[in-house]
Amino acid sequence: MSTIAELKELLAQPRQIFITTHHKPDADALGSSLGLAGYLRKKGHHVTVVTPSDYPDFLAWMPGNEGVVVYDPRRNDAQVRAIINEAEVLFCLDFSCLNRISELGEYVRAAAGTKVLVDHHQEPEDFAQLDFSNPKAAATAELIFEIIRDLGDQDLIDTGIGECLYAGIMTDTGSFRHPSTSRNVHLIIAELLSAGINLSDVHRRIYDSHSEERLRFLGFVLKDKLTVLREYNTAYIAITADELRQYHSKTGDTEGLVNFALSIEGIVFAAILIDRKQAIKISFRSVGGFSVSEFSRRHFSGGGHHNAAGGISHEPLDKTVTRFLELLPEYQSQLVAAPLAAAHP
Ligand code: 5GP
Ligand code: MN
Repeated sequence: MSTIAELKELLAQPRQIFITTHHKPDADALGSSLGLAGYLRKKGHHVTVVTPSDYPDFLAWMPGNEGVVVYDPRRNDAQVRAIINEAEVLFCLDFSCLNRISELGEYVRAAAGTKVLVDHHQEPEDFAQLDFSNPKAAATAELIFEIIRDLGDQDLIDTGIGECLYAGIMTDTGSFRHPSTSRNVHLIIAELLSAGINLSDVHRRIYDSHSEERLRFLGFVLKDKLTVLREYNTAYIAITADELRQYHSKTGDTEGLVNFALSIEGIVFAAILIDRKQAIKISFRSVGGFSVSEFSRRHFSGGGHHNAAGGISHEPLDKTVTRFLELLPEYQSQLVAAPLAAAHP
C-alpha cells in the first residue's frame, strides 16, 4: 500500500493523466473513473478516460461520459496508444490484473508514466508504482472518495463527482446489503449527501431504466433458463448466443440476472454462463463461506471477490455447463454444510 504523500507529490503539478478500468465497465468501474477524472480536472490536470470496451446505456448519465474514449482495436488503436504513451500518470481503477483490460493491458504495462492502482479485488498483480488496493473496501469508488479526502480536497467533491462515486458504492454493495457495507461506507454516503447528491435519482437511472425488451428477456430467463440443484444449494442459468440475439440483448442487459438465482431461499451458490461467441463469460455469486473467487480462479481463469467473481471458458457452452456441473460434487460438503452465519471472512 502506497502513501497519500507519494500521490500528492506526483500530482503536485499539472499532469497528462490517463484513467482506465476493467472490460465491460460497471457502475463502480465507470463511476470511480469519472469521479476521479472530475476531481483531477478541477485540480488543473489534463485527463482522458479510456474504457477497454463499451458499457451499458444506463451509465451514460454520469458527468464526463461524453469525453470517454471507448477503445476499439479496429477504430482507434493508434489514438489510444498515443494517449497511453504520452500519459505521465496512468490510473488503473477497479481491476487487479492487466489481462482484465484486454489489449490495453500490454500497452499499459509498457507505458513509461507512473502507474497508480486503486482497486478492491483479491490478489492484485504487482504492476503499478503506487498501489492503493484494498480488498476490504466495498467499492473502488469508496477508495477514490478516501483518496480525494486524504489529499485534503473533499470540498472539491461536487454533486456530479459525488453521484458518480455514490453509483459505484451503491451497486457494488448490492444497494447496501452485502457484508462489505461497513460503517465507513455509510459515513461516506453521509458526506456525499452533504455534497448534494440525489440518491433516488441515481438509483432510478441505474435500476429503473430498462427497456421493455430487457424485461421480457428476464421473464424468459426466469421461466425457461433457471436450473435449481437442491442437492448442492446451487442454481445456475446458461444463455446461448442465439437467445441473446432473439431478445436483441444489449450490453448491460444480463447484468444482475445471476442475483435472481441467488435470491432463492436456501441457495448459497449461483452462476450465469453466457455465450459471448469469443468465449463463455461466467459470473459467480455466493452467500456465506463459499468463496467464488477461489472457485473461479481455480477452474475458470477468473477471480474477483469472496462472494462475487467472474471467469471465462473457451469451450462451447454445453461443455462448459457440463464441466461446471462435474465440479459440484467436490464442493458438496462446503455448499451443503456451510452455515450462512459464517459469512464474509
Ligand atoms: P461480474 O460477475 O459482475 O462480471 O463480476 C463480479 C466481480 O468479479 C467483479 O468485481 C469483477 O471485476 C470480477 N470479475 C469478473 N470477471 C472476471 C474475470 O474474468 N477475472 C477476474 N480476475 N475477475 C473478474
Ligand atoms: Mn468494484
